[in-house]
Amino acid sequence: MSEAANFGFDTLQIHAGARPDPATGARQTPIYQSTAFVFRDAEHAAALFNLQEVGYIYSRLTNPTVAVLQERIATLEGGVGAVCCSSGHAAQIMALFPLMQPGCNVVASNRLYGGTITQFSQTIKRFGWSAKFVDTDDLDAVAAAIDENTRAVFCESIANPGGYISDIEALAKVADGAGVPLIVDNTSATPYLCNPIKLGATLVVHSTTKYLTGNGTVTGGCIVDSGNFDWSASDKFPSLSQPEPAYHGLKFHETFGPLAFTFHGIAIGLRDLGMTMNPQAAHYTLMGIETLSLRMERHVENAKTVAGWLEGHDLVDYVTYAGLESSPYHDRVERICPKGAGGLFTVALKGGYDACVKFVDSLEIFSHVANLGDARSLVIHSASTTHRQLTPEQQEAAGAGPNVVRISIGIENSEDLIADLDQALKAAHA
Ligand SMILES: *Cc1c(COP(=O)(O)O)cnc(C)c1O
Repeated sequence: MSEAANFGFDTLQIHAGARPDPATGARQTPIYQSTAFVFRDAEHAAALFNLQEVGYIYSRLTNPTVAVLQERIATLEGGVGAVCCSSGHAAQIMALFPLMQPGCNVVASNRLYGGTITQFSQTIKRFGWSAKFVDTDDLDAVAAAIDENTRAVFCESIANPGGYISDIEALAKVADGAGVPLIVDNTSATPYLCNPIKLGATLVVHSTTKYLTGNGTVTGGCIVDSGNFDWSASDKFPSLSQPEPAYHGLKFHETFGPLAFTFHGIAIGLRDLGMTMNPQAAHYTLMGIETLSLRMERHVENAKTVAGWLEGHDLVDYVTYAGLESSPYHDRVERICPKGAGGLFTVALKGGYDACVKFVDSLEIFSHVANLGDARSLVIHSASTTHRQLTPEQQEAAGAGPNVVRISIGIENSEDLIADLDQALKAAHA
């Protein structure tokens, strides 16, 4: 599709990156289930390997079905390029990889998806990287945490699961002032509700497993580059600004300009880390993205209705949903995610841990699963599952205390969801 900038979101979510298959005329993007692609001749092969010509070599690096999804997500996020990979967690490693070296750190929000807190506080240490967790509402604390070894600031647009909205604009200014990129995990908001790049973010990461696919079928991840960061402004990012020994001394920023990060992500990240998205997964996610705006509208509408109903219930302590007037983050909705605060929130039950466990076990329409962003409504008791490995302090900071249940509102009829929640609340307190 040409001149993508002129089309609206609903058009782009269906068409961006795709065109009828030139060989067959197939209207839907084919699943190019092929490991390798034939070179025209030896010269063509050499040009591809030298990155002088863009094309398909081997599906660990690039694949035509995955490429459509990459262009689709990059367009919806307003970036210059995107790299898809095998999961949201892979996307986070892939986003940090070109920026970090042993001894470097990332300054991260203390309100993040539980798995990300574990990845950042434990696993990345094996690479010699580290994370400093801060309350990102305290901009002075963020600025103070950034030191000469910091290579990125990391937050979630709408933090999973606490109903917290990051002030992306303010954080981007702090990161920019310190000469480091702001990376925003936009999984819970999706580009329909929030555009981190417009608000100043350099990189956006996604777990495409969630709303972008929207039907709970495949795991995937994506890193979108705004193309706005000057990697050569300091000596902090040698893998992008200096000759890269892992690619025979190529200078990525000098050679590819605003596409440096994207090319690095494919030519070195996917080539050597191998966290590749397969074409089947890309296909399921492409099918999902076609209806993203429609689903997000219903997720938001249902979440508002259900959260409002729960807030008034006798057996409920409180509900954290930024779409409610009672939320301390309500004021940020209009500026950060003007089309709504998403479909994810937490509810704290009277009766604590035991009531939560009974509640979750009594639900019938809602499924108890470790997933979110599905068409169907889901719940999880974070303290006994996704946030189990965190300390009680980390659980509280992440909005996942023992009395809290996370709810991912689906696109069913809201009156049916309310009836199910009502009977389960009664059962939990019987
Ligand atoms: C699920 C999730 C992740 C991790 O994604 P996977 O696809 O499960 O690896 C990261 N961030 C957020 C906000 C998530 O919801």
